[in-house]
Amino acid sequence: MGKKRIVILGGGESGVGAALLAKKNKQKVFVSDFGKIKKKYRKELKKAEIKFEQEGHDLEKILKADLVIKSPGIPEKAEVIKKLRKKGIKIISEVEYGSLYYKGKIIGITGSNGKTTTTSLTHHLLKEGGIDTSIGGNYGISFCRQLLDTHSEFMVLELSSFQLDDIDKFRPDIAVLLNLSPDHLDRYDYDFGKYIDTKFRLIQNQTDKDILIYNQEDREIIARIDEVENGQNKKGIRLLNYINGISSKDGVFKLKLKGEHNLFNSSCAIEVARQVGLSDEIIQKGLSTFKNEPHRLESVGVVDGVEYINDSKATNVDATYYALKAQEKEVVWIVGGVDKGNDYSQLFPLVRANVNAMVCLGVDNKKLIEAFTGRVDVIKTCQSMEECLIKARSLAYPGEVVLLAPACSSFDLFKNYIDRGDQFRDIVQNFNST
Ligand code: ADP
Repeated sequence: MGKKRIVILGGGESGVGAALLAKKNKQKVFVSDFGKIKKKYRKELKKAEIKFEQEGHDLEKILKADLVIKSPGIPEKAEVIKKLRKKGIKIISEVEYGSLYYKGKIIGITGSNGKTTTTSLTHHLLKEGGIDTSIGGNYGISFCRQLLDTHSEFMVLELSSFQLDDIDKFRPDIAVLLNLSPDHLDRYDYDFGKYIDTKFRLIQNQTDKDILIYNQEDREIIARIDEVENGQNKKGIRLLNYINGISSKDGVFKLKLKGEHNLFNSSCAIEVARQVGLSDEIIQKGLSTFKNEPHRLESVGVVDGVEYINDSKATNVDATYYALKAQEKEVVWIVGGVDKGNDYSQLFPLVRANVNAMVCLGVDNKKLIEAFTGRVDVIKTCQSMEECLIKARSLAYPGEVVLLAPACSSFDLFKNYIDRGDQFRDIVQNFNST
């Protein structure tokens, strides 16, 4: 790429990663953020002598860009994007930009739920199998930042729909499409079809040299996949929900992760590892040493015979469905937060069968109460984690589970899902046994 004026919109992890990569590649870079840029990122930009602005956009300057790299958080309806589009300036996502500089093989993983778990497990299996692998994307460290000093043979990328929104030539060697259920519809004009379009962008550039792994039982994927597959002739590998275990050379793989959903996530990671050339023995070794990220069906302790499970990352109905389904014991269920236009009916049979009491944790619990009255014997409400756990504890009997699986985002009462899960864990771990 010759010297270009690159404007980067957004000064968070992906924006700063892209800025540092662009600077390293001797481009003229300017970072602009409508909000405040975190101190650690400002420091990095200054150190790299990259110009930036915050709390506003200098449109005159931005509209002179040859190329704009957009952070995933910026919606299409933002004024600055509308102006750039009108002027016909090329906008790409940070992931697209990274792919221009990466020569290794990309494993791209998307879906509505299970991305982080599958990305992390895939990375772990490959690493344990002795393969030179890095991890990035939506998973903490941006792709571009990873490219500043790593050039590993494989890059496992977690990709959110927002990151796929502005890709152009991005082409994963192995793509994993986990599942599709409604999420983030506020960014897609409340149109599920538009959200699905974005997820399918993951595979739009794949060819017959590439591999696509997907769930053959996901209605939304199946509704569209044949058309895409036939059109592009890629090597599609259809996986089933292996409820009875995933076959290996010597029987079935032994997994540490619980829950039916994790069987599927694991089968995707295993399939990637096989495609990369690892044997089932090596894969099994990797599976045995894997530890999942916190806030995903994380058991945080047993107090007075009651187990407390933190699934704060269950921020939509589908994830909550699998969290409830994974429970073998009866449940006191903690749910609530910011409702994203949820339809709770998918949960009714599980809730009726398994939930003895629910504690609604949110500023506005009305919709939950309406949906579940008559379906759960006891419904309580609260507005802090502390109050919530006092109530949950008093409702749970020995042998039961208190499950935090909110089906909602956390921003009404917490900084984010991590804060919500951390508070849950801290309070439980400070319970004194009676
Ligand atoms: P993501 O990165 O896509 O948000 P995570 O691995 O962080 O996915 O898991 C998010 C939530 O979804 C957790 O509550 C987890 O228990 C649940 N979950 C994980 N995998 C699946 C799946 N395949 N289907 C449905 N829910 C899942």
